[in-house]
Amino acid sequence: MAKVTVDGREVEVPANANALEACRAAGVDVPHFCYHPALSIVGQCRMCMVEVEGVPKIQASCTVPVRDGMVIKANTEKALAARNATMEFLLINHPLDCPICDQAGECKLQDNAVAGGLPVSRTSEPRRQFPGYDRTEIGPHVIADMTRCIQCTRCIRFCEEIAETSELTFIERGGHTIVWTHEGKPLDNDLSACAADVCPVGALTTKEFRFRKRVWWLDKTRSICDGCEIGCSLSIEHRDGVVYRYTPRVQPAVNDYWLCDYGRFRAEDLNARDFTRPEIRVAGGAAQRRQTNWGEALDAVKVAIEKAKEASAAGASGAGRGISSNVLVIGSANLTTEEAWLLATLCKDSLKVNAPEFAVDEGPRRRIRNKKDGWLYGTEAAPNSRGCEAAGLSRAKEGGASPLSLLLSKKSSSFPSVSVLYVADAHFSEKCDDPAFVADLRKASVLIVHARKRNALTDAADIVLPVASLAGVEGTFVNAKGRVQRVDLAILAPPIVRTNFEIFLHLGARYGACDTQWTARDVFDRMKASVPGYAGLDWDADAVVGNPPSISPAAAYDALGLNKDADVEVFTRPSVAAPDRKP
Ligand code: SF4
Ligand code: SF4
Repeated sequence: MAKVTVDGREVEVPANANALEACRAAGVDVPHFCYHPALSIVGQCRMCMVEVEGVPKIQASCTVPVRDGMVIKANTEKALAARNATMEFLLINHPLDCPICDQAGECKLQDNAVAGGLPVSRTSEPRRQFPGYDRTEIGPHVIADMTRCIQCTRCIRFCEEIAETSELTFIERGGHTIVWTHEGKPLDNDLSACAADVCPVGALTTKEFRFRKRVWWLDKTRSICDGCEIGCSLSIEHRDGVVYRYTPRVQPAVNDYWLCDYGRFRAEDLNARDFTRPEIRVAGGAAQRRQTNWGEALDAVKVAIEKAKEASAAGASGAGRGISSNVLVIGSANLTTEEAWLLATLCKDSLKVNAPEFAVDEGPRRRIRNKKDGWLYGTEAAPNSRGCEAAGLSRAKEGGASPLSLLLSKKSSSFPSVSVLYVADAHFSEKCDDPAFVADLRKASVLIVHARKRNALTDAADIVLPVASLAGVEGTFVNAKGRVQRVDLAILAPPIVRTNFEIFLHLGARYGACDTQWTARDVFDRMKASVPGYAGLDWDADAVVGNPPSISPAAAYDALGLNKDADVEVFTRPSVAAPDRKP
């Protein structure tokens, strides 16, 4: 550690920190563009100029390693004049298109100009133009507007150092320099949209989000990506019940500052919905289902289960414990651990049927990286298989002997004939769209599914219970590293739609087993006694859930050895003293 004084404030920072990080640790905002905590230091933008005692010239603070006893003066006349000059040079060549730029509201250039720029322009020359290099798709997800580029090289360094694909480079020279792809090849890697995240201005934006919503209208809710077992931390950004985008949340133990493109662009899917009310097959075996209310739907579920159990009660099934094998329950690795625990408890104590099984699709392999671990790989296409196992669901595998395992092994002839099949997630596998797979599940006399969107399985179902998307649930997931991470409620599902959690509670209440007022937190606390890994965890504690309770990534910075709000998510305005505003 090194003791450094910044503008009279003494702070202790890691010995490998630089002067900019020391300023941030001391709570002194020094504006910068090219510095990014996860990328190499290049001192490219010359914005973070400060004075260092004993050094005659002003310094780009990100390039100055700290030493014990260093005295930094961040807001001297000389430093402010240098920073103002840099801003002025950048703005000479920057288009005045904030009103139509999609970065407005999260643009570092805009923020720094508002906080410390000159009030008038001292030039009247035409702005530079880059015909052919504006509003151009340079990859499947990224659009480039090169009139806005400030040549900070963050995107180039991201592609070289993080994605390791090096698609981007500078072309041309001097005032004509722009960032473009090598030989016109596309910016096409599995993390490509992160290049737009690190771009501090509107030079790189994502095709999917561009012009969909002004960012200051968006609310942010912490969540976890459900695209694979890695469980990257993200914010769901939403407004008026509509999800607009995912942005990465800083999480040094998992995804650092990044999201893969596959996970990131799943956000739009959260708005898709085919089922808004429970549906039940019309009596008499008609082909159609009709919409109904929750009371009738859940009563019908209970009646079907009880009839099936009565039918098998006299037989040998159940091995003397009153367990009926005439009812089969299939869970899902998309359930939160709280939902999985409720389902397992419901099956064991109330329905008295065998423990639910679940299956997870494998591949394609996703990857993400962080500074400490390097690349992390995820092959399971669901976020919570570990949590489900811990909560009491049993994992079905090809080659296994359980009913779902037999089905996955294509031994459908061995799949037991049951009276009631209850599938707690109609999208637990891609196979649920395969007519042959669904035909085997359909052999049950009564097929009950939870679903948000239509597929072959919901088409075959007798009772469909509409459920919320990831944006409408609260609970925890356990990722591939065994890390328990919390998912928060972003938007309420449509009025008649319920979460899996609520459905299990209300079904349980019909057996007198649970209180319909329980929250995910109540169940989390109950789970501590029985679910491995949950004992001693605290719903609110940062270290336990792996996410700070607010969107501030300050705790993540602490973990990186820094001590200030990250700029990737929250672009703080520099608090430099007001400059001399005389033109
Ligand atoms: S495109 Fe953006 S990130 Fe890349 S150099 Fe230009 S301003 Fe920096
Ligand atoms: S690596 Fe997995 S968890 Fe992370 S963003 Fe991609 S799909 Fe989501």
